[in-house]
Amino acid sequence: MPAAATKTHKPKKLSEKKAERLRTILAALDMLYPNVTCALHHGNAWELLVATILSAQCTDERVNKVTPDLFRKYPSIRAFANVPQAELAQDIHSTGFFNNKSKSIIGAANKLLNEFNGEIPRDIDQLLTVPGAARKTANVVLGTAFGIASGVVVDTHVQRICQRLELTKESDPVKIERDLMAILPQDRWISFSHQVIHFGRNICVARKPKCAECPLQTICRAPDKTVP
Ligand code: SF4
Repeated sequence: MPAAATKTHKPKKLSEKKAERLRTILAALDMLYPNVTCALHHGNAWELLVATILSAQCTDERVNKVTPDLFRKYPSIRAFANVPQAELAQDIHSTGFFNNKSKSIIGAANKLLNEFNGEIPRDIDQLLTVPGAARKTANVVLGTAFGIASGVVVDTHVQRICQRLELTKESDPVKIERDLMAILPQDRWISFSHQVIHFGRNICVARKPKCAECPLQTICRAPDKTVP
């Protein structure tokens, strides 16, 4: 497991060459995306947890189409806890994997009501005990809703781009997160993921990345780079 976040977290010392490379990457991301945040619409931490559960194997755009009606119909954690699972599954049908997602959401609502006074816990170890809140989801909720840098969100974009930019050699998200937590300053953990996710959607896309418009093309040695 990645190391727990502490106020005393210090990034590991990199060689000057690697440190310079990392500075270049962070500067390019800041230049491209100075004010990014989570693309999932939400009004509070609970809604963000629901939206993040729904976003598994689904686009944020699709989730953002479903959640306004969903949060109108179920305006509280208790309302989600009381809905029959088949009905919730129907409500979220278009996001895919609706049976598992509806079970997770109802399970999360009950867990929060029964064990956390109806509040989202602000501690990652506690949040990880809530159904549907695996590490990526927990990091999204803590980082975006509370500004708590509990770890680095590793989704498919972060995974691909950190491999292309040689920030990790790992393919397992937990190990990638551990590598990123080791080299990034903790005050970059939240923004880094948001920036890389935008970068992965707009420029460093999975197939045929748009390298001609990428500010990192001079330092990138990815085998699937599309410019020399
Ligand atoms: S040069 Fe291409 S592959 Fe490398 S980071 Fe930029 S877009 Fe991605």
